[in-house]
Amino acid sequence: MKETVLSGIRSTGNLHLGNYFGAIRNFVKMQQEYNCYFFVADWHSLTTHPTPADLHGNVRTVLAEYLACGIDPEAATLYVQSDVPEIAELYLLMNMNAYVGELQRTTSFKDKVRKQPDNVNAGLLTYPVLMGADIIIHRANKVPVGKDQEQNIEMARKFARRFNTLYGIEYFPEPEGFSFTGNLIKIPGLDGTGKMGKSEGNAVNLADDEKTIRKKVMSAVTDSGPTKKHQKPAEPIANLFALMDVVSTPDTVAHFKHLYSECDIRYGDLKKQLAEDILKVTLPIRERILGISNDSAYLKKVVRLGAEKARESAGKTLREVREIIGFREF
Ligand code: AMP
Repeated sequence: MKETVLSGIRSTGNLHLGNYFGAIRNFVKMQQEYNCYFFVADWHSLTTHPTPADLHGNVRTVLAEYLACGIDPEAATLYVQSDVPEIAELYLLMNMNAYVGELQRTTSFKDKVRKQPDNVNAGLLTYPVLMGADIIIHRANKVPVGKDQEQNIEMARKFARRFNTLYGIEYFPEPEGFSFTGNLIKIPGLDGTGKMGKSEGNAVNLADDEKTIRKKVMSAVTDSGPTKKHQKPAEPIANLFALMDVVSTPDTVAHFKHLYSECDIRYGDLKKQLAEDILKVTLPIRERILGISNDSAYLKKVVRLGAEKARESAGKTLREVREIIGFREF
């Protein structure tokens, strides 16, 4: 039997290179070999309180961008989270087995408390529980994610294991983070520190036009240049090399690393090449995004088909879970 794969992206803005190389590129390969579920995480987006006027458009954007990256809605099940109410019920049930202390200790919760001190809602605290429910509702084995999600996957494993132990049944598989390269990766941003993220203002979006991408890359943070031969690049430069590692050929990367190592590097040249190689990845995707976003009939068809397939799988799990917990029909 094929293993089940699940992955989701929050509908909080355009997809960027971090999403693409951290997760989506894996989906495209996986959909042929595995039983795949990919979804637009619109409930998750509520933790930052989007306005009603933006919510639908954001879902539509992520959906169109997902499709433009090569997700095939026939081969995989591509759905919108809020179309599958079974996930909300499983989330409720899983919340009874999640402990406040462990949720408060997660890095992502602590980060959010720092970033949005005026909106520390319970949804932020229980974010890993909803993410766990997203995964185990299809009894998924593999979750293609970037390194930033490692801890949340660990929590999902814990919740699955805890359910099995509590009810004395091997029901949920323990899901594992997955990347074709072996290690979960982190794509850095252009601001010199940290990861590329939708809300960090440091991202190259898949839908960006050529001019915007060149401008963003040319204004990426650098330093004053290497002063000693063979020195290790500091974070802003290491980040540019990390981006190059995913978009450029090995020869190009080796060439610029050599120039750096010999103190002969000109950051302007490095950035020009990087922008060029990013464009080779993003421009074909951008073309497809523009086509798909205007095709409302197609998007509607995709969403309907996805909801139907996702609810069938989710409904089966939920019926079995209710049975295991002890709910019976009168
Ligand atoms: P998000 O945009 O936070 O909803 O993340 C959606 C998916 O993209 C998750 O699988 C993340 O692990 C992945 N992702 C987001 N940002 C990055 C990044 N900078 N590097 C690698 N993966 C990422």
